[in-house]
Amino acid sequence: MVGRPEAAIVQTSEDETRKFLFRFRDGQEAETVYIPDRQEDRGAVCISSQVGCTLSCRFCHTGTQTLVRNLGAAEIVGQFMAARDSYGEWPSPHGETPRLLSTIVLMGMGEPLYNYENVAKAMRIVMDGEGIGLSRRRITLSTSGVVPMMDRAGAELAVNLAVSLHAVRDDLRDEIVPLNRKYPIADLMAACRRYPAASNARRITFEYVMLKGLNDTPADAHELIRLIAGIPAKVNLIPFNPWPGSPYETSYGNAIDRFAQIVMDAGFSSPVRTPRGRDILAACGQLRTEGKRSADGGAGSREGGAV
Ligand code: SF4
Repeated sequence: MVGRPEAAIVQTSEDETRKFLFRFRDGQEAETVYIPDRQEDRGAVCISSQVGCTLSCRFCHTGTQTLVRNLGAAEIVGQFMAARDSYGEWPSPHGETPRLLSTIVLMGMGEPLYNYENVAKAMRIVMDGEGIGLSRRRITLSTSGVVPMMDRAGAELAVNLAVSLHAVRDDLRDEIVPLNRKYPIADLMAACRRYPAASNARRITFEYVMLKGLNDTPADAHELIRLIAGIPAKVNLIPFNPWPGSPYETSYGNAIDRFAQIVMDAGFSSPVRTPRGRDILAACGQLRTEGKRSADGGAGSREGGAV
């Protein structure tokens, strides 16, 4: 398959999370993570859409790496195929046959809606019965809030949506998710309300990284409830995963528990995501390669993810 990764360095975490560093034909690299479900014989593959990222979210290690290039559709599908190869899942299970690599989350390096054409083409191949045959219900696209493209993705792909929210006030979100200066919270929430594939069965996931002393107070939790009122939603609370030189600290456990309880009491599921693969820097917000802008084909560092 053209674009299929040529080489991979694979690391497996103590908790069985597996991180792949894939190198493409031009020497550029991207990271992919397989996160097994602890209770079930299945798991999610977190796929990258770009080498680097333009968005510079302050809590995200990928955001410290400038955008080198978009990944092509074959390179996006190729990450899933190569991850499956490493578990021997071939040929593609179809129908009711259980899949080990059962879901795709477009949550790795990059903003998928800034590489929409390639991401859409890749997901159509993944969903096609003659391709990988994975249901759109098993695909989640995560965005930092590229509002106009959310409408398009909803109409054309109708996959599940995850939104990197992380703050409930524009002044703070402007700082930690700078895209907010272009598409502020009110516009983002309006786009979520319009998202056609959202329903009680397919709720929008709001990702919320817990940063000590910044966004983790009860007042923040109450404002979050107000913002998402009426949206079929769940809130993933993500204890901040530190990386070398990161500017933030993880919230205290009791602050996270209190926040989760307030959100839950308002009727929204609010699981606290257990950090996975921290020991190999495969957890949310930790992915990063050393992308090369020149054609020197150099290898990348071994760190890597996004939220
Ligand atoms: S969180 Fe996502 S969009 Fe933000 S800098 Fe990281 S990779 Fe880019």
